[in-house]
Amino acid sequence: GSGGIGKGPVICSAVCGNPYAGLVSHLRATWLSGKTRPMEYRVAQLEALGRFLDEKKQDILEATALDMGKPSFEAYFTEILLCKNELNNTLNNLSHWMKDEHVDKNLVTQLDSAFIRKDPYGVVLIIAPWNYPIHLFLVPLIGAIAAGNCVIIKPSETAKNTERLVAEMLSCYLDNDCFAVVTAGVQETTRLLENKFDYIFYTGSPSVGRIVMAAAAKHLTPVTLELGGKNPCYVSDTCDVQNVARRVAWGRFFNAGQTCVAPDYVLCSVEMQEKLMPALREAITEFFGSNPRESPDFGRIVGDKQFRRIRALLCSGRVAIGGQTDEKERYIAPTVLADVLPSDPAMQEEIFGPILPIVVVANMDEAIDFINARPRPLAIYAFSCDSKVVNQVLERTSSGGFCGNDTLMHVTLTSLPFGGIGRSKSPNLPAPGQRNSGLGMYHGKFTFDTFTHHRACLHRNMGLEALNALRYPPYSQQKLGM
Ligand code: NAD
Repeated sequence: GSGGIGKGPVICSAVCGNPYAGLVSHLRATWLSGKTRPMEYRVAQLEALGRFLDEKKQDILEATALDMGKPSFEAYFTEILLCKNELNNTLNNLSHWMKDEHVDKNLVTQLDSAFIRKDPYGVVLIIAPWNYPIHLFLVPLIGAIAAGNCVIIKPSETAKNTERLVAEMLSCYLDNDCFAVVTAGVQETTRLLENKFDYIFYTGSPSVGRIVMAAAAKHLTPVTLELGGKNPCYVSDTCDVQNVARRVAWGRFFNAGQTCVAPDYVLCSVEMQEKLMPALREAITEFFGSNPRESPDFGRIVGDKQFRRIRALLCSGRVAIGGQTDEKERYIAPTVLADVLPSDPAMQEEIFGPILPIVVVANMDEAIDFINARPRPLAIYAFSCDSKVVNQVLERTSSGGFCGNDTLMHVTLTSLPFGGIGRSKSPNLPAPGQRNSGLGMYHGKFTFDTFTHHRACLHRNMGLEALNALRYPPYSQQKLGM
C-alpha cells in the first residue's frame, strides 16, 4: 500500500485537494470525448488484455506463488485460463451484446423507433481482493471495457507481488488515457472513494463492502458487491462417499481454502460423518501425499494476520485429520474437524482457510433448517445420488449460486451469473456483520450488462400530428374514448 498511480497520466494532486481527483477528471474527460465508444477500440483493448495474459503468464505464476504459495496449476487455471475464457466469450459476442435492442410498441408509437441503447456508465472503479488477485479485477475489467467505460483498477495491497506486477505492467498494454491502476492501502482507498464514480465494483469482505456502499451512496453511485460468507455443503446418506470426499476436499483445499465459494462446512448425519472421515483422509493423501507441507500443489495463507485468525478456529469440535500449523511458513495443513457444534469458533465466521468442519444433523430437513436459520450464502452445495434430495435442497433454500454433486464448478461457466444475494433470509436474526454474500452479478454477458446503462429510447416520427392531438388539451371525454 504505497499509494501510487500506475504509469498513467500525471495530474494535479495538490491543487485539487483529493489526490485522485485529477486522475478521475482526466478519465472522465477522455470518456466524454467518446474515445471508448467504438467497438474497434474496445476490441483492441480487450485483445491487449489477452496479450498481457499471454506474455506475462510466467510473471503472474511467480507473483502469486510468492504472495500465497499458489500452486502453478491453480494459478494457471484461475488467473489465466478462466480469464481467457471470459475474454474469448466477450470478443465473440460483443457486437451482438452492443446492438440496440428493439422493443414492443403500443398503438400510438407504431411508426416510431423504440429501443434499448447499451450505453457505457462512464468512469468506473474496480476494487479487488488478494485471493485471486488477477482474476478478480480482470474479469470485471473485461466487461467494463467491453461496455465502453473508462476504468480505475485498485488491486489488493495484501498480494504485494501481484499488485506490483499489475501496477508496472498493465499500463504497457492498455490505453493510459482510459485505464489506470491505483495502488492503495486503506487510507488511500478511502480518499479514492471520495470521488464521484459512475459505477463501483467491489470484491472482498462484507465489512468493507458496507464502507464502499456508504461511500457510493454519497454520490448515489450504483454498486456491485461481491462478498463472502459461509457456504454450506449438505451430504446425504445416499451417495458415492469417495467421489464426494474428493469433490469436497478439492473445493475446500483449493488455494489453501482462500476461495469465496469454497464449501465452508459439511452438514451430514452421524453415520455419514463416520464414512466421510476415511474417505476425506484418502482424498487428501491422494491429492497432497502423506505430508501436504511438501506438496507443490498445496498453497499457503496470504499473511500473518490471516494465519492467526484461521489457526484460532482449530479449537472447534475435534481435529480428525490434519491440524498441523507452521507460523513461519504460514502453513496450515488440510484439516477436517469432526462433531463441530454451531456454537464453536469455526462456525462463527467465514473460515477462508484449509479447515473443513463437519456439523452433524439428523436428516435433510434439519440441514435445510440449519441453512435457512443463517444468512443467505454465496453458494450452497448438496450431494446425493437421489436427485430428489438435491432438488429439495435447491427448492427450499436460497443462495447466490448452487451446485449439486460438486463444488466450485458452477463458477466456471460464463453462461451462469455469479454473485450473492444480500443478507439474511429470516428478518428476525441478529445482523451478523461478517456474513453477507453481496449484491449484483457478473461473468459472461452479465458482466457486460453490469457495466452498461440500459438507456430507454424512443425516436418519434415528426408527422401524424392528428393522432397526437388526442392527448393535447383541451381535454374531453371523447378523447379518452369514454
Ligand atoms: P482485502 O483485504 O484484499 O480487501 C479487498 C479490497 O478492499 C482491497 O483492495 C483493499 O484495499 C480494500 N479495502 C480494505 N479495507 C478498506 C477500507 N476500509 N476502505 C476501502 N477499501 C478497503 O480482501 P479481503 O476483504 O480479506 O477478502 C476476503 C473476503 O472477500 C472474503 O470474505 C471473501 O469471501 C470475499 N471474496 C468474495 C469474492 C466474491 O467474488 N464474492 C471473491 C473473493 C473474495
